[in-house]
Amino acid sequence: MDRSSLLELQQSLPEGVLTFDEAELTRCAKDKWQPGFSMPAAVALPRTTEEVARILRFADQRRIPVTPRGAGVGYCGGAVPAKGGIVLSVERMNKILEINPADFVVVTQPGVITAQLQEQVEAKGLFYPPDPAGRAESSIGGNVSTNAGGPRCLKYGVTRDYILGLTVVLPDGTICKTGGRTHKNKTGFDLARFFVGAEGLLGVVTEIILKVIPLPPFRSCLSAGFASMPDAAEAICRVFEAGFLPSAMELGDAFTLEAAWKRTGNPVFKGSKAHLILELDGQESSVRGETEQLAHILRNAHALSLQTANGTAECEAIWDVRREFSYGLKDTGLKKLNNDIVIPRGKLVEFFIFTDQLQKKYGIPVACFGHAGDGNIHTNVMVAPDDPRQMEAGKKAVDELFHQVIAWEGKITGEHGIGLAKLPWWNTGTSPEERELHRRVKQALDPNGIMNPGKFV
Ligand SMILES: Cc1cc2nc3c(=O)[nH]c(=O)nc-3n(C[C@H](O)[C@H](O)[C@H](O)COP(=O)(O)OP(=O)(O)OC[C@H]3O[C@@H](n4cnc5c(N)ncnc54)[C@H](O)[C@@H]3O)c2cc1C
Repeated sequence: MDRSSLLELQQSLPEGVLTFDEAELTRCAKDKWQPGFSMPAAVALPRTTEEVARILRFADQRRIPVTPRGAGVGYCGGAVPAKGGIVLSVERMNKILEINPADFVVVTQPGVITAQLQEQVEAKGLFYPPDPAGRAESSIGGNVSTNAGGPRCLKYGVTRDYILGLTVVLPDGTICKTGGRTHKNKTGFDLARFFVGAEGLLGVVTEIILKVIPLPPFRSCLSAGFASMPDAAEAICRVFEAGFLPSAMELGDAFTLEAAWKRTGNPVFKGSKAHLILELDGQESSVRGETEQLAHILRNAHALSLQTANGTAECEAIWDVRREFSYGLKDTGLKKLNNDIVIPRGKLVEFFIFTDQLQKKYGIPVACFGHAGDGNIHTNVMVAPDDPRQMEAGKKAVDELFHQVIAWEGKITGEHGIGLAKLPWWNTGTSPEERELHRRVKQALDPNGIMNPGKFV
């Protein structure tokens, strides 16, 4: 990397926007995917769209790689600067610009932390539903760029479904406002959503117009223990068959529940072999009535234990433990080969029979939890990091998992993205025609290949 070019860029920007500070470079060399580490040559911390445009224009002219970064808590190495160059972090672009209850619209900069945005929106009686479990740490721009999902996406849809408009700086520095603040818009291609889930390969998102909806006034949760994951998956089928669409249906297996209990000390899931959480929201009288009906359905579906929680405080006590599932598995000291596969809903029972066979075959735990209602299961192959034989067995187990998922017409990632972690399976998980279309789109927007190089296109 030509350091003199970067110094020239530094001088053209306000003080402190481009830094070579070693601690900053190290911080921005990684995200939450443990194997991913690659040092950038510089870190850019712009405050405005215009500064982002100046950085990209310069980088494009000099062919300097630029990797966008939100909060850096992605799970697949997407924000890791695989080819060095500049990490462009939007963390200082962290203001909510407007919360408009009349238009049901929020305008925000990308660096705002998702949970903070949700709190401020809810204080005004509005609701932004997508709720990734890492929302206390992730940025809304990162959520847009990974099309993040979460438990409530079963009923409400994923991040994509709440994007009305985006301001995007294209790799050549062009500032492009796409979409708008209306809830319907059929003016040309749906360009705003084109950048949703693009993992920073097509441009930098600098402003986001979100759709919000009225905040449901009441919530209830049901928390049910089962003898096995296939039993719990059967119970999910019974809930759908009875005509219910809960806002969330989350499942955790015995290994995950034990780890969560050890981390939190909260006995809510202790002793279960499989645990299902269901949430309902809406008007209080109908939610309470439906909760009773669902309790009846779960008992008939062989629930071994059943608790109900009414109102936000009681429900959050359950979700607080659920949000610790991922951290609990990390606490075990085992290395988590973390995958977020998604399968057609009808395959759920077969899937848990398959993962049980997988752990027996390779002699390593396969910890499953996640968004069972929409077939998106976090499937964690747990290996001892300093045991090369287990590492090898773990890799084989992951490979077998992905091939089975694809055979069922599932996908190798439902919400975390491809990044570096899923790169080895990109060809397996896509058709030649899809890859060619990706290549043509990338070529059209980023002909010099400066945006997040070394990733899936
Ligand atoms: C404990 C835990 C639980 C999690 N649970 C979930 C979950 O339930 N659902 C889920 O979907 N994810 C989950 N994740 C993953 C993570 O929270 C999401 O991927 C999140 O969207 C990442 O946001 P970020 O701001 O950290 O993005 P980063 O990690 O900084 O970036 C992610 C990708 O987006 C690109 N990018 C970031 N900002 C921009 C921008 N402004 N413009 C263009 N490109 C950009 C980056 O280049 C990178 O490719 C979890 C993570 C953790 C640690």
